[in-house]
Amino acid sequence: GETIGILGGGQLGRMMAFAAARLGYRVHIFAPEPDSIAAEVCARFTCADWGDAQAMATFAADCAVVTYEFENVPVGPLAAVGDTPLLPHPRALETAQDRLNEKNFVTALGGRPAPFMAVDNAEDLARAMAEIGTPGILKTRRDGYDGKGQWRIMSPQDADGLDLPDVPLIYEGFIRFSGEFSVILARGTDGDIQFWESAENIHVAGILDTSTVPTPPALLAQVEQARDLARKVAEALDYVGVLTLEFFATEDGPVFNEMAPRVHNSGHWSIEGALTSQFENHIRAICGLPLGLPTLAVKAAQMKNLIGDDAHDWPAILSDPANHLHLYGKAAARPGRKMGHVTRLTLG
Ligand code: ATP
Ligand code: MG
Ligand code: MG
Repeated sequence: GETIGILGGGQLGRMMAFAAARLGYRVHIFAPEPDSIAAEVCARFTCADWGDAQAMATFAADCAVVTYEFENVPVGPLAAVGDTPLLPHPRALETAQDRLNEKNFVTALGGRPAPFMAVDNAEDLARAMAEIGTPGILKTRRDGYDGKGQWRIMSPQDADGLDLPDVPLIYEGFIRFSGEFSVILARGTDGDIQFWESAENIHVAGILDTSTVPTPPALLAQVEQARDLARKVAEALDYVGVLTLEFFATEDGPVFNEMAPRVHNSGHWSIEGALTSQFENHIRAICGLPLGLPTLAVKAAQMKNLIGDDAHDWPAILSDPANHLHLYGKAAARPGRKMGHVTRLTLG
């Protein structure tokens, strides 16, 4: 079959590669880390820096289509992909890589983020705290994930001792939410959009812990409005592939948190819990194929991340037939590192 190129070599690329293989495609991974866990499961692997234009061009020439599993792929070097289609379009990366751009973009489409202000120095921060109030969260505009590059500011005094990093930042008001959920959609080359059930997401220490479907009744009323926004985002970007938006559910309706132009951790339940997984529909979309139905296939599913040194009794987990274990093949369990996940299904 044809070869699909994936930029990025983490667990998302690995699970994309499994879905691609099932549909008869070969996968070529491009990633800067030599010990990529996605490289183990693909036909070809190019280990090179993102900025290596020669390596990028050679990689792309081998592929019928190129996609990405990593939202912080630098956009400039992607010019070297040349004539090979790159989907989703890199304008989605540009929009989502900078929290300030992302919030302005979504606001222009009628979405409502937390109140925010750009912060480039201590004076900006003082102004933002005065205007927006505390508590709030100071975040790096770029490169953050799993809660990295964030400082919770409970009162103005918390800002006194802060040694601000010399990168663009953003201050956000703290949202008092009743829950968090994500909207994950796939959009095909023909513009067809399909939504998965919105999972309720619970974070612990800034890292996703569990995602549960079906959507609990208390959050369900907010999903339609959130989907409307996600649809507008996808259409404005002429998006092809899987797109994720994270929301806070509040008394005043859904508040946009952030978007990811890719498959998402809160959609891993769809591998066993939906008629078509987010990974399969991403591959179908970028290959110009019809999308599969994302419909919930079970009564309920809960995905739990295995973080750091958690839960190493695999036989105990597997001895319960409701559990589906995924291990990513990462060598070292660093604190906070996503090592795998378990999806627990409740059948009808
Ligand atoms: P991800 O791994 O999802 O990309 P991230 O590092 O980009 O994470 P965010 O999604 O910005 O981080 O924040 C992580 C979590 O911190 C959120 O899911 C939420 O629980 C909490 N959080 C972030 N911003 C706010 C806010 N403005 N108000 C309340 N809670 C927040
Ligand atoms: Mg994020
Ligand atoms: Mg997030």
